[in-house]
Amino acid sequence: MNTFIEKLAEACRAHRITQKWLIAPSLRTGHQWLDQVTRAGGSALNVHIHTVRSLAMKILAPQLADGKVKVASAAVRRLVVAAAWQQVMKDDGYLGSARLTPGLLALAESSLLDLRLAGLGPGDLDGARFEQAVKGTELRALLAAYQAELEKRNLIDHADAARRAAEALRESGPPGIVVIRPDDLQLTVLERTLFDAFAGEVVVTLPVDRPADAAALEPGGDGSVHIVHATGEANEIRAVLRSVLEQELPLDGIELLYTAADPYVPLIYDTAHRIFEHDASRDLGVPLTFADGVPARLSRPGRLLAAWHGWVHQDFPQSGLLRMLQAGLLRLPADQDGDPVSAARLVRMLRSVGIGFGRDRYARCLAEKIEALQFGLDGARDESARSDCRQRLETARALAGLVETLLAVSPGPDAGATRTVSAARTLLGDHALSSGKLDGLAQQRLGLELDGMLDALGASDADPAGFDGWAWIKELPERIGVGGSGPRPGHLHVASVRGGGHAGRQRTIIVGLDDGRFPSAGRQDPLLLDHERAELGAGVPTSRTRLREQVEAFALLLSRLRGDLVLSFSSRSIDDDREMFAGPVVLASFRRVSGQPDGDHAALMDWIGPALSFAPRHADACLDAGEWWLHQAVSEPPVENLAELAKATFGHLARGRAAGTARASDAFTVYDGRVDEPGTEIDPTAAGGPVMSTTKLQAIGTCPLSYFYERVLKVKPPDDVEVDPTCWLTSLQFGTLLHEILFEFVAALIADGHWPPEPGRDLPRIAAVVETKAAEQRRRIPAPGEEAYRQQRGELDQSAAIFVKEQARSPVPGRPVYLEASIGLPTQRRDTDIDVPDPVAVTLPGGGTIRGVGIIDRIDRDGDGYVLYDYKSGSSTRNYDPGDPFRMGRLVQHALYMAVVEAALRAGPDPDAKVREFRFLFPGVKTHGREIPFGRDVIEPGLKVIGRLCRLPATGAFLASDDSGDCRFCNYRSACQAVETNLDDLCEASRRKIDNPDNTALKPLVELRRDG
Ligand code: SF4
Repeated sequence: MNTFIEKLAEACRAHRITQKWLIAPSLRTGHQWLDQVTRAGGSALNVHIHTVRSLAMKILAPQLADGKVKVASAAVRRLVVAAAWQQVMKDDGYLGSARLTPGLLALAESSLLDLRLAGLGPGDLDGARFEQAVKGTELRALLAAYQAELEKRNLIDHADAARRAAEALRESGPPGIVVIRPDDLQLTVLERTLFDAFAGEVVVTLPVDRPADAAALEPGGDGSVHIVHATGEANEIRAVLRSVLEQELPLDGIELLYTAADPYVPLIYDTAHRIFEHDASRDLGVPLTFADGVPARLSRPGRLLAAWHGWVHQDFPQSGLLRMLQAGLLRLPADQDGDPVSAARLVRMLRSVGIGFGRDRYARCLAEKIEALQFGLDGARDESARSDCRQRLETARALAGLVETLLAVSPGPDAGATRTVSAARTLLGDHALSSGKLDGLAQQRLGLELDGMLDALGASDADPAGFDGWAWIKELPERIGVGGSGPRPGHLHVASVRGGGHAGRQRTIIVGLDDGRFPSAGRQDPLLLDHERAELGAGVPTSRTRLREQVEAFALLLSRLRGDLVLSFSSRSIDDDREMFAGPVVLASFRRVSGQPDGDHAALMDWIGPALSFAPRHADACLDAGEWWLHQAVSEPPVENLAELAKATFGHLARGRAAGTARASDAFTVYDGRVDEPGTEIDPTAAGGPVMSTTKLQAIGTCPLSYFYERVLKVKPPDDVEVDPTCWLTSLQFGTLLHEILFEFVAALIADGHWPPEPGRDLPRIAAVVETKAAEQRRRIPAPGEEAYRQQRGELDQSAAIFVKEQARSPVPGRPVYLEASIGLPTQRRDTDIDVPDPVAVTLPGGGTIRGVGIIDRIDRDGDGYVLYDYKSGSSTRNYDPGDPFRMGRLVQHALYMAVVEAALRAGPDPDAKVREFRFLFPGVKTHGREIPFGRDVIEPGLKVIGRLCRLPATGAFLASDDSGDCRFCNYRSACQAVETNLDDLCEASRRKIDNPDNTALKPLVELRRDG
């Protein structure tokens, strides 16, 4: 027992029957004191625990009972300060010129309270005491307005309560009770006045343990102090739990104190959840109690509030809704049978709808989706397709219903405070998903806070000026702790250094004692500066006095502790691999326990053991199997056959290792994309094989593995619904829009018999087409901002003008006869004479036939020959070099299209057709209308290249590309990086495999890379 508990037991004995009011820093602390008294065999009869606040309320109970005054809740106080600020501050004032943010409002509230608890009123704020007299005038007016506002609403705050309680005591005389308080209770001026008002012997002040020399930070009790350090905060926490295990300590023999709630509370909570089996009967599911609870932001309802705030303030991005669904924050809608539609189905459906962002787009886009699905259902050929369509339709309808309700609940970012807080309450009550006790507690606690604010707002006639409801909601889940509890049997107790150290446990462990965290830097209040506070009197705290109080409180904490004490700090930051240093309290303790009175940090690090790391030092201390393996991996003497043991235990690791070894070798293996029995369905030359387009062929030529992912396995990365705020259209969307514009324009000129274009006549015409098409596109895909639209719209305007000017002086004399001709593919914008639904047979020089398809942007006729055009919207012509026509198989469009179109023309309108040329046309701003022609002499070698390309899937050879440049824009980067983080290494391995003549399956690829 420490001195205070001993004296408390004595006081309880001395005043056994008399009613006793025990004053504690918190009710929980008071209960812990009484527990210690009773555990030591004492009696705590007729003891009522109070904080200074509740003491004042108790004394004022008769005044409060008649309802003439009420205590201002935290929510109401915030509104009162906002109202006072709005009344007195002028936009051109000293403080008034600052923007009233939630942070400034909180500062103003705490400064006003500091002044009032120091017993100061408006008359004490003399301008001469401030750095600028005008600032003093403003603060004086603010304090007066605040007081007047409280009076007007018949409210009192803590300062009023302390003052009134002291007056009431002086008037009524001492109540027949004994007030017991420790002599280290930190009191403000008005609080001291309250205690002074208890006349005579009513107040019993009990001594506490104090260090002989505060600077020495001497622990009380048996003085056994251990100092440890760890690699990162996570290992500080793991080390605590390991010590429990290793030394077979009871959990309820330990109190764990932290210096900073963030990161320690979430870390302790998460680690405990991983280590201990979840026990639903415990409040937080783990055998730990948290004095201040855990932040509501760790719960689903807390996360929902934060995510919803972001969703509304970022203009309702689709990605935001997606994340809410993926994280399981929302209650799921039901299908027609009343069963909840799974989040996975809703997520898949949401991904498939191109909403982007914007409140207004959801309903329209989802309605279009529903219509399309209904169309699909009506046309479904068999029962399996019908059932699939029906389920997707049901999902889309459920999603539309959910979105409609969410949007109806959500006000805009400019909505007033009452509307906003009320919406948050509805969201929490009707839509937040709760699973487990923490969620339930958070939902309840957040609900109470929101209700309190709604009550406070309801008391005003209109939305209070200066109060930002959205900002208040945003910080709510951060600020509110849930599941707070005193120490309990069977539970390790967690508290802050500020409020802890009262549980009377055998071991106390204090984490977070690095010099960056404790003592925390005494930051100056920017509203009421330290020197101004000092001028106003000793009762107004400054950053320096607060810093001193922190250290003194820590010294008192050490003195009152009994049993073992462990001081812990992180000596390396895992996040940024930075060295961290012990704080002054660790150094002071080190000097005392090591007998090195002048020891510095270097001496401490020589004296202390190695850092506690992810690998425990002893097998008995391992918290889970992972730690045990890590311990074995670094133990001395080393375990010789550890790798074999690991392989035998973890089959997946063994398989992964085998795959890694195979990939690193020169052999082409099944781990490199080798399919041993590929089957005819993936052989492009087989009767039932796939039809081949330019895209498919060039994908094989670029990277056979990417073709395998996309066309054989048919896997694709999830649709990216993130919105780039700087970009209106993706490059694909931009290219498609440019194609549409050029199609419309050229089609109109042909219809009018006006080819070739003339800039003087046709520039306004194409500008009008751009205007119409861009506006249509903007309706479909709204721009994230005017600048993003303006930038890409400018590019469209310029590209269109370049097209007109460059085509006007084109050296090719032909005239367009077909636009967007579709061969073997669905007709595009307009049917042409050579559109055919079936693919065209293309005979390959080495034998075999493929079925070719394609959409040709433009076919011109020049005399008896044809010239094909393909518009390219990219900004570079680098990959279209007549000197390297096939780029090792990466470019075959020219050859395939010339072969396919010639066959289609001959089978249709022109039996003698001869395609003379293929031209890539670049109307972009950087490429400036350049045309790159390829003559028909590329057809024969091009078909040879196509033959080699087709042999790769036919023989099941899907090696990753040998050039990491191919990976730059690949959709499958994350899939490849999952097996090889560095894609250069992956491509390097492919080069080795290509160079190995034993890999006969790669012969076509060898030929491609060698000969094109
Ligand atoms: S990331 Fe590179 S190696 Fe992987 S599939 Fe894409 S192009 Fe091929």
